Amino acid sequence: MPPTRHGAVVRRACKRLQTRDDDNACKLRPVWLFDLDNTLHNASARIFPEINRLMTDYIARRLGVSREAADALRQQLWLRYGATLLGLVRLHGVDEAEFLRETHALDDIGALVVPGRGLATALRRLPGRKIVFTNGPAAYARQLLFHLGIDRHVDRCVAVEQMRLHGRLRPKPSRAMLRAFIARERLDPRRCVLVEDSAPNLVAARSLGVGTVLMTAHLPSVKRRRINWAKLKIHDLAILQRRISHFL
Ligand SMILES: [Mg+2]
Repeated sequence: MPPTRHGAVVRRACKRLQTRDDDNACKLRPVWLFDLDNTLHNASARIFPEINRLMTDYIARRLGVSREAADALRQQLWLRYGATLLGLVRLHGVDEAEFLRETHALDDIGALVVPGRGLATALRRLPGRKIVFTNGPAAYARQLLFHLGIDRHVDRCVAVEQMRLHGRLRPKPSRAMLRAFIARERLDPRRCVLVEDSAPNLVAARSLGVGTVLMTAHLPSVKRRRINWAKLKIHDLAILQRRISHFL
């Protein structure tokens, strides 16, 4: 039977309804903001010791201090600013790009990576938009996502170089930076979920109405017990899919 004008009108109406359903489904699906280090992989095992060594070397060289003094300063700045880089930029005028390049120059990152259990499958099965939101530099994050085998399951990567307000660096746990990011991307904070191992970063997100998931897989047990306000605590990303109703 040849197609009728009425049939074409019905098909167009069905298509419009389908598009509207898809839009509504998209609006209802969470936007996942995944931290990278010690959330998607075990950074403490091999990568952090290497990065810490490179940071200590850089600080000792740049500020002309002993390795012991540089190591202590690295840790103090991390505790005070949430990112060693931010403290070095503010207090010592360190060049951001140089610091990030020299402290993340890992010879064979693929040999150092320890992926989270069932990582690629868990991300593939998880509905919603997936954004990696990391205080690490973009080149490092890109390499890691590739070696973790999850680059195709991630929609976007926001690295530390992009965490800015009025041109100034504002990495996690900056609440103002996260608020600006959510506004710029036109996201509904109630649909966003931050998955993290860092308590200060989760506190900032929670104050904006963002859902919070504490990844405990690479945390010492004392810290794991102390944080009891996160909406969900997980040790394995596969749990997210089973508990997705918490965030819908
Ligand atoms: Mg982390």
